[in-house]
Amino acid sequence: MKLYSTNNTEVLFSLKEAVLKGLPDDNGLFIPQTITPLPTSFFESIEQLSFPELSFEVAKAIIGDVIPEHDLKEIVFDAINFDAPVIPLDNDCAVLELFHGPTLAFKDFGARFMSRLMSYFNKAESKELVILVATSGDTGGAVASGFYKTPGIKVVILYPSGRVSPLQEKQLTTLGHNISAIEVDGSFDDCQAMVKSAFLDKDLNRVIRLSSANSINIARLIPQSFYYFEAYKQLKDKSRPLVFSIPSGNFGNLTAGLLAKRLGLPVDHFIAATNANDIVPQFLASGEYNPKASVATISNAMDVGNPSNFYRMLSLYMDKVTPVQVERSTWNNMKQDISGYAYSDETTRKAIQEIKEKYDYVMDPHGAVGYLALKEYQTIHPNATGIILETAHPSKFIDEVESTLDIKVDIPERLAKLAELPKEATTMKAQFDLFKSYLLEKF
Ligand SMILES: *Cc1c(COP(=O)(O)O)cnc(C)c1O
Repeated sequence: MKLYSTNNTEVLFSLKEAVLKGLPDDNGLFIPQTITPLPTSFFESIEQLSFPELSFEVAKAIIGDVIPEHDLKEIVFDAINFDAPVIPLDNDCAVLELFHGPTLAFKDFGARFMSRLMSYFNKAESKELVILVATSGDTGGAVASGFYKTPGIKVVILYPSGRVSPLQEKQLTTLGHNISAIEVDGSFDDCQAMVKSAFLDKDLNRVIRLSSANSINIARLIPQSFYYFEAYKQLKDKSRPLVFSIPSGNFGNLTAGLLAKRLGLPVDHFIAATNANDIVPQFLASGEYNPKASVATISNAMDVGNPSNFYRMLSLYMDKVTPVQVERSTWNNMKQDISGYAYSDETTRKAIQEIKEKYDYVMDPHGAVGYLALKEYQTIHPNATGIILETAHPSKFIDEVESTLDIKVDIPERLAKLAELPKEATTMKAQFDLFKSYLLEKF
């Protein structure tokens, strides 16, 4: 497997370089040079494979022989150790539940796989790798859990004091071992600025091997393609056109679906479902890409005004990959595969109620946006069978779901038991020199 940057197709990178670097120096995004479809025999026997087994076959098809089969199998089986069940709502639509991992959101897939891949590539190095993450909540929890006890890797998480939920804070501050948390007296932007300064600081980089667990790392995208195959496997009727409805923010999940299609998965269409942050649905309608400041909604993990995977998605539809410009042909190609829909918070709340009343199913606000988009698409494509990606467990957004439905939502035990564990965090003013001294002392 070789990768190139969306800003320069001439220079090729190894998977190891792409995973450890995260981002190419030219500010583009790493993308696989070639994607070879899986053989028909794979799809014929897919129902006999377990989720980890089929994930291993998909990983092999993407990664090739860069990692010996035995090692790759170990990485995949260790990372993909929880289910992704498809729950039917009615004859036309089902829910793919992606929240059965340790932090109750689909980000566990990416974080668990990335941590194991980084650890594998880091094995030959004598020096430990220190990963810095600034988080506004959810990403930090998935990354902390994903890297917990990973050999050769230490993680430092910076979060804004008082601006993450109590349970989110516990996810960051109770693990210990190789995970350290810094509670910053400032905003998320302050945390991010401190991390950025650390990457640029010569003294730090001379003595510590720093890396990031950035959300656009290609290692997070690869495992997100696995569950599209797992969903297909569980489909009873495989003869109808299959559409996936994907509640989207940074569009990593949707990009992974496009990757699955390139790998031969028989997907008829993708639905880009968003909240009021509708930059991509607007683009699909007009051909104009106008990023703007994000607005706050009840599906806050999708409050993104300039989706970081946009150019990666676009590059998959270019006749020839050229940096940062949208050709008419690219837009037309993309519209063949993807439709966009956006919904207000009010409509989303009504959908949460409708899903409970009609199907006795409790859905979180992100999944509900996906539900709305699928139902709207199906009014003009009644023959399609649809799968909604449910990206988080409803208890992650408990206040919103409980007040909308007027019911109690149970918090799964693995999350609830965190509430009793003691918090351990270093408090710090939002000043880079303090962060620098901390790192130099610690590592
Ligand atoms: C991150 C997240 C999303 C958005 O996923 P993208 O890959 O960034 O589009 C949707 N729902 C939940 C619950 C999330 O945590």
